[in-house]
Formats: sequence, C-alpha cells, structure tokens
Amino acid sequence: MPKAIVLFSGGLDSLVTTLMLRRLGIEVVALNIVTPLHDVSQAAMARAEAFGLTLRVRRVDESYAGLIAHPKWGYGSAVNPCIDCRVAMLKIARQVMREEQADFIATGEVIGQRPNSQKMHQLALIAKEAGVTDCLVRPLSARAMNPSRVERDGLLDREQLHALTGRGRTKLMQLAEELGVRDIPQPASGCLLCEKTFAPRVRDVLRHNLNPANWHFEVLPFGRVVRIDANTQCVVARNIDDCRNLVRLFEQDDRPGAALLEPDSFTGPAALLIGDSYNAEHESVAGGQVLRFSNPNRYDPANAFVRFRDATRDERRQVFPDPDASEYKHF
Ligand code: SF4
Repeated sequence: MPKAIVLFSGGLDSLVTTLMLRRLGIEVVALNIVTPLHDVSQAAMARAEAFGLTLRVRRVDESYAGLIAHPKWGYGSAVNPCIDCRVAMLKIARQVMREEQADFIATGEVIGQRPNSQKMHQLALIAKEAGVTDCLVRPLSARAMNPSRVERDGLLDREQLHALTGRGRTKLMQLAEELGVRDIPQPASGCLLCEKTFAPRVRDVLRHNLNPANWHFEVLPFGRVVRIDANTQCVVARNIDDCRNLVRLFEQDDRPGAALLEPDSFTGPAALLIGDSYNAEHESVAGGQVLRFSNPNRYDPANAFVRFRDATRDERRQVFPDPDASEYKHF
C-alpha cells in the first residue's frame, strides 16, 4: 500500500484530500505544522481523532523568524510571507516523509484559490524550492496540472483525482459530503500574519528588532503591545487566557531577554517587559502599564505590589501609577 504525508490544517481542503487518498487505498499520515502565529494544532487533532487519522504535529524551527523578517518572495496582503512559508512547510514534510518511509507528499492546495501562493506558477515554484517536485501531488487540482511523478509512477490513478480551480467551494463541498464530512469547517486560514489589523504589531517588531526570534512574534497575540522605546516593549494581558499565555511564554527555555510582572496585592493583568537591555526605568514604566490597564477600584495606588521575575531576580516590588502611561502607543 503506498503511503503519503498530507499537510493537514484540519480545514476543508486538507481534510477532503486526506479522506480522498485514504479512500483510494493510500496509507495516510496527516501532518500539522505550527508556526509562531498560526497554531491550529488543537483543531487538527480534533479532526484527526474524529476521522481516525494518524496525525503528527511539528513546529517550524528558528529560521522561521528570519523568513517573516526577510521573505525571499515578499508578503501577501498583510505581513504573510506565504510562498516562503509553504516552502518551509514542504521541507518539513519532506523530512517527515523520510522518517515515515512514505512514498509521496500531498497537499490540499487548489489552483487559484489563494492569490498569494496558489497561482499555477507559484505552486510550481514552491515545489521546486522545497525540493519536492518529484514527490508532491495536489490531488484536488491534479488534473488541471501536468501529471506529477506520483501519477506517472502509478502510485495514484490520475483519473481518480480532481481538476478544481479557483475560489468556488461547491465542488469541494460535494466531495466532502461524499466522503462523509458532515460538519463543514469554515474557510479561515487562522494565520495572524494574514490579518491586516494584526500586522502593525509585527511591523513594530520588524522596525525595532533587527534579529527577532520566533518568540518575539509568538508573544504578540497575548495582550496590548506597548512600545516603550526603540529597544524595549511591554505586552500587557487583556484577560485570564492572555495572562496564562504570558506566563507560559516567560517560562519557555528559549525566552530571549524578558521580565514578567504579575499583580501580587491586587487583581490585574500580567505583563511581559521585553528587551535585551531594559533598566530600572523600563521596569518602572512596565509597572505603570500594569496599573494603566488595571481596574482603578481594585488597587490602592500607594500600596500596589507585583511579583517581578527575570533571569536573575524573583522579588515582590511596589509599582506606581505613571501619569504619562497613556502617552505610550499601544497596538
Ligand atoms: S497563511 Fe500563514 S501559515 Fe498559511 S502559508 Fe501564509 S504565512 Fe504560512
């Protein structure tokens, strides 16, 4: 039985592709790839479990931050480096194909469905750059393309594949129904790099940090991002989930320079102070930002304390309202 690795987000395209290949007698391993600003692994796991699929989840490596900063093929409509990103994902898929001793890779890409990365020439370029031209097939659009090596070698019968193009979803929905998909996932990439309202946070990092790490992007969704100066920023949680995520990111081994402030004598938001050279003044500004976004009825301005932690300190310290706190721009 031939074996395939299928790039799997849990969205309709990749789900239909996976189920279709399985129906054709292919042993499939679904592969979900997590990037700093696109993590749909929970949804992918739920889908995989519902359909009895084998799922592997991989994270992109540290080189991904460089790809956001300097994409070889540029950005899409926001700060989404889709072509570079697809190349990176297919390189991971190629690695997993070797580990799993699979015969080929498949994706749910449809020609012309996405303007940033799924035009015919872009699909060819992505496969070439990732070094997977001879082991990649896009089953939903295969018959609208030249036969792939996978088809020529008889691993897949071209006649059983499809010739979908464009953004319409009617045929895809039909296929989904035939394959027993009742709960149709909504079309959404889930990638924050594509969101125009989110892009200013990413651009702010790119403007001020010449050598960002994945972590610098990962932290951006979890609060209000306050720029303190060229080298220092602060992320202040908006809710309990943000607080948990800021603590989780602070505790990561690969954390760059950062301090965590958590209210100790009152109820309020956690905050991360981020920078390689923050000083007492920055720390005081960060304390002022915690109070800026706290409910004034919930703390005593003369008696507000936080737990302050960084690489060398873990202490209870007093913070003070900053009359200039609202002067700092936040995204
Ligand atoms: S939408 Fe995001 S995750 Fe998807 S290819 Fe583009 S940059 Fe990558």
